[in-house]
Amino acid sequence: MHKKLFIPGPVDVREDVLLKMATPQIGHRGKAASALQRGISEKMKKVFQTENTIILSTSSGSGLMEAGIRCCTRKRAAVFSVGAFGDRWYKMAKANGVPADKISSVPGQPTTVAMVDEALATGKYDVITVTHNETSAGIMNPCGEIGELLKTKYPEVLYLVDTVSSMGGADIKVDQWGIDVCITSTQKCLGLPAGMAICSVSERAIAAARQVENRGLYFDLVELYDYIQSKDHQYPSTPSLSHMFALDYQLDKMLAEGLEKRFARHIEMAEYVRAWGKKHFALFVEDEKYLSNTLTTMKNTKEISVGDLNKKLAERGFEISNGYGDLKDKTFRISHMADYTLDEVKELLRNIDEILGLE
Ligand SMILES: *Cc1c(COP(=O)(O)O)cnc(C)c1O
Repeated sequence: MHKKLFIPGPVDVREDVLLKMATPQIGHRGKAASALQRGISEKMKKVFQTENTIILSTSSGSGLMEAGIRCCTRKRAAVFSVGAFGDRWYKMAKANGVPADKISSVPGQPTTVAMVDEALATGKYDVITVTHNETSAGIMNPCGEIGELLKTKYPEVLYLVDTVSSMGGADIKVDQWGIDVCITSTQKCLGLPAGMAICSVSERAIAAARQVENRGLYFDLVELYDYIQSKDHQYPSTPSLSHMFALDYQLDKMLAEGLEKRFARHIEMAEYVRAWGKKHFALFVEDEKYLSNTLTTMKNTKEISVGDLNKKLAERGFEISNGYGDLKDKTFRISHMADYTLDEVKELLRNIDEILGLE
């Protein structure tokens, strides 16, 4: 039986969107491919709220995270981590021989403006990376405030942001916040199958990257950028056109829904799950200002077996997620992203209530 996935990615894909993956292939060097990719880029700029260049990558989001830190760091990167995905960015820097330091928050707490200010005051860094929405913890970091700090005090520092689990589900103002490289992937708030990543790159990020000697090739942001500019949105290697057909269609649907409405729907679902979480358990993130709009992490205060709960949910056609890493049994997570509706979220929680005997 199909299980509706309330895990934080991959999420369920609506059938009409999924079927677009089966569109007959086209040549990736023809005019039709250019038109498809140009159209995606124009629509994606609206979702990203940016005038920067959009780059598509046939990889998951991690590919472009690695590209970002490797291509943009000339001196040293300050990697701010509030959980597993911040840690991953640091590992990528190390694995590529990119000089970097990791600055971690206390578990459950955000990356603050003060932390960024303190690190940048040392003058050691020319790049910072921040996780906008940390999927292990359910934290949404104050990326707008951090961007404001950079603009006023450290305008030369490049700002790289992981929005893998929030772009398309939360209001992210790439240009207003001054984000130089903003990264996402298809299988979370965009509501598509995994396999394609998307980022926006600023002109100054590309100019900085040109000064970096070893940028790799497949994930070289300069190579991708130059190719897009000179070859009308085409790519150096064969992209997943299947994803592009579905993405183009999904972007039309998202823009037809209206971005403001889409973001409001995510907040509505988040508020419902939080209220449920507070009534029966507790929320992992205590300061409500930093709660994620796209997934909620509950503290497992009733010490339920999430494995057993998921077995029973599976019989009813649902799946939620246990905690990530160290938090495996101490927390559990429910996603409310992409195309889900409040009614579907209510249906999930009603089923959990029945299984656990909650009133
Ligand atoms: C899922 C996720 C990633 C990893 O993305 P992939 O597309 O799986 O490579 C990175 N960061 C965050 C915040 C995520 O939620």
